Amino acid sequence: MTPDRATQDYIGASDAHSAHNYHPLPVVVATGDGAWLTDVDGRRYLDMLAGYSALNFGHGNRRLVDAARAQLERVTLTSRAFHHDRFADFCTQLAELCGKDMVLPMNTGAEAVETAVKTARKWGYRVKGVSDGRARIVVASDNFHGRTTTIVSFSTDPEARADFGPYTPGFDIVPYGDLDALRAAVTDETVAVLLEPIQGEAGVLVPPAGYLPGVRELTRERGVLFIADEIQSGLGRTGRTFACEHEGVVPDVYVLGKALGGGVVPVSAVVADRDVLGVFRPGEHGSTFGGNPLACAVGLEVIAMLRGGEYQRRATELGEHLHAELGVLAGTGKVTQVRGRGLWAGVDIDPSYGTGREISEKLMARGVLVKDTHGSTIRIAPPLVIGKEDLDWGLDQLRAVLGA
Ligand SMILES: *Cc1c(COP(=O)(O)O)cnc(C)c1O
Repeated sequence: MTPDRATQDYIGASDAHSAHNYHPLPVVVATGDGAWLTDVDGRRYLDMLAGYSALNFGHGNRRLVDAARAQLERVTLTSRAFHHDRFADFCTQLAELCGKDMVLPMNTGAEAVETAVKTARKWGYRVKGVSDGRARIVVASDNFHGRTTTIVSFSTDPEARADFGPYTPGFDIVPYGDLDALRAAVTDETVAVLLEPIQGEAGVLVPPAGYLPGVRELTRERGVLFIADEIQSGLGRTGRTFACEHEGVVPDVYVLGKALGGGVVPVSAVVADRDVLGVFRPGEHGSTFGGNPLACAVGLEVIAMLRGGEYQRRATELGEHLHAELGVLAGTGKVTQVRGRGLWAGVDIDPSYGTGREISEKLMARGVLVKDTHGSTIRIAPPLVIGKEDLDWGLDQLRAVLGA
């Protein structure tokens, strides 16, 4: 495909002066509305990625934009050197949504994961009684928890890891979904098990039924924190507020991000009970922007929207439809496997139709934006506000690309 002039000019300028740490599809977005984007040449696209679930509530969501605008006019940043009048409400209401006592707000997902790692280590030394410097955290293979040096230290993806050592020690990696391997890896020095309840970047991998309850039971027995990274799986995507809920599991620590900022500003948080998050004393952790007034105002609106349950219901209903339709495609053999839950699917395409990237480019040419993950897998995760007709139209484009 040959992008036309305006698009080409933008991409050339971008390539010239930005680090090439991404390989975006050749589309240059100018505006967004709901599930739709318009590019600099006026072409419209259905957004079936939703910023990796950061845009669960869609582009330009009226409630979120109004909340942000009102706060922009009041005050946007104080630093945590002072109190501000949105902070307490945000922490109280987020804690309530999670059924926990306390919130530690940060900005990006990776920062929240780092915060959870620090929380677990400090808890391990101060509460569990692990000898200084000995704390270990068990994680899963094919995880994605962010891009900082500590987090890539326990990645199993060579692309994410190579050339970024020396690596942070203290992590044990076990196969995802394998409870026996996890049981064997936990020692008296293990302070936490850190997992995605559904692995997003790995291709929307749902663990075997019973795995998460098994992790819950094991960690409780062994006095180990269960940290659920719900940054991508949480806040409505799977049809529940948290993906863990599908298995009736309540982790000790929730790590949240992405949709918590409503696609407007980066907002992340670690949420846990007082016996865990209470380990921090002034000066031991922080962030200049973490918990700022604008972030809290937007986050509060997100929490209010989730409390209504409407988005979770939409994700359930549209998700059933999405998975039924993808199941039909899988029956044709053109799609080799479909995984996921709610309005979230990892779709393995028969490699004879091209790589995930090639399929994504063909979908883009038909006005649908998705993102490939590994090999011939594409990920479908439209904003939860998408209309059923639009979702059907997007699926029509996938069927057309596959000649189905
Ligand atoms: C996106 C993501 C992160 C990292 O979030 P950033 O805001 O990109 O730092 C961490 N964990 C999971 C599960 C994610 O999907």
